[in-house]
Amino acid sequence: MAERKENLVLFPFMAQGHIIPFLALARYLEQRTNYTITFVNTPLNIKKLRSSLPPNSSISLVEIPFCNSDHGLPSNNENTNALPYHLVIRLLEASTSLKPAFKKLIENLIEEQHGQPPLCIIADIFFGWTASLAKELNVFHAIFSGAGGYGLACYYSLWVNLPHRKVDSDLFSLPDFPEASSIHITQLPTNIREADGTDSWSVFQKQNLSGWMNSDGILFNTVEELDHTGLLYFSRTLGRPAWPIGPVLLSMESRVLAGKGGIGRELCIEWLSTKPLNSVLYVSFGSMNTISASQMMQLAMGLESSGRNFVWVVRPPIGFEVNSEFKTKEWLPEGFEERIKDSGRGLLVHNWAPQLEILTHKSVSAFLTHCGWNSVLEALNHGVPMIGWPMAAEQFFNVKLLEEKLGVCVEVARGKSCEVRHEDIAAKIELVMGETSGRGKDMRRQARQLMEIIRNAMKEEDGFKGSSVEAMEDFFSTAMTRREKTEMEKKIAA
Ligand code: UDP
Repeated sequence: MAERKENLVLFPFMAQGHIIPFLALARYLEQRTNYTITFVNTPLNIKKLRSSLPPNSSISLVEIPFCNSDHGLPSNNENTNALPYHLVIRLLEASTSLKPAFKKLIENLIEEQHGQPPLCIIADIFFGWTASLAKELNVFHAIFSGAGGYGLACYYSLWVNLPHRKVDSDLFSLPDFPEASSIHITQLPTNIREADGTDSWSVFQKQNLSGWMNSDGILFNTVEELDHTGLLYFSRTLGRPAWPIGPVLLSMESRVLAGKGGIGRELCIEWLSTKPLNSVLYVSFGSMNTISASQMMQLAMGLESSGRNFVWVVRPPIGFEVNSEFKTKEWLPEGFEERIKDSGRGLLVHNWAPQLEILTHKSVSAFLTHCGWNSVLEALNHGVPMIGWPMAAEQFFNVKLLEEKLGVCVEVARGKSCEVRHEDIAAKIELVMGETSGRGKDMRRQARQLMEIIRNAMKEEDGFKGSSVEAMEDFFSTAMTRREKTEMEKKIAA
């Protein structure tokens, strides 16, 4: 009889920052294990994903029905990538309506496998509801966090405790995460700052996070050696294992997943190749965020006066549709585009750039980033120090970790409405890229050291196993033990 293949079900939230690490995990598992992988999402996302996988991939892409217009969302849009930020919560709320279809899908898989459930459901941090469903169907369940342990620990603690609501001061600490020391009110994402326990975000998170208690553990796209404190927070708060299995990174697929606009890989590499070693600053705020019109103006002036080469992924400022026509004459200082083009100093990319290829390029030496965790991992994996400008979610705490604990980042601004001065931007660029500051040299050295640590975590050779390889093995052995226990119980009951 042919050996039955174990099935793993992966189910990310419909956002590029979530789908990308899930796809990276799927590819990683496909290449290193003998499991069947079922990747679940809504029809439009699956359609895009089909063109992202190589033809010989064995990952099974499965769509479940979703009608965005039923939820007051623009039609033809099932991804935060092309959604104004204020509608993200609507998409999150709408995602809970996927429950009956997801349940049916798992039941069908069990039936196809003659009663054997998938080895594990690996679901998004926003899909807490999948954990109780897994319990009901007797399937091992893990959450996969594309966010790091420390950042997510702060974020989780803030939602659960809303500590800023209980103090008069702008500075406060997290009652169950003292390791994070003090947090300033300006480090809170807008939705948490405004949360009072009854607003849409609070209601969603309350349900979502309580769902985590039904899960069997959390997989983190992070590395034990740099994120120990955050991982510890989850193992003690949830009483479940936290497995640091990263970084799992996606290479060329992220380009195919891109939205409209952007620039070809070749053009970008060609431009970078004309620049000297370690001379270029890469500027990008991820797949969802943008800055205000006045911040954009200051950033342009700061980049120009820094005298450094740069690649800047420009998205229309707040108030404009993501795919709206580029009014660079209006949004940027007069003559800016012509000057940077004529001097060859800067490359403006609209909306989407081949980020991994850029960060890998030898001419790039620093990254001005919103510090989304995928961007952080991609930078660290290539030894690139960061200038942090957090915008939302746990990004503020990623910057805190990177600056205070790891020494590879300097913060330049906070949020999408803060006042930012071009002189400060230029000064921070000089600090990180220049030769005069000892701190800049330390940051660059530290980034190279972290690169070694991170790469080692994923290594498996000559009897050596990195920490992430071991964590992955532990995860699978826990899932397998659970499977054997369930089968034994079934036999006894029969
Ligand atoms: N990304 C990209 N090109 C862009 C913007 C983003 O390839 O122009 C990719 C980036 O490499 C990363 C992901 O999109 O893998 C963004 O994830 P992150 O966690 O950094 O931020 P988010 O978009 O979730 O805020």
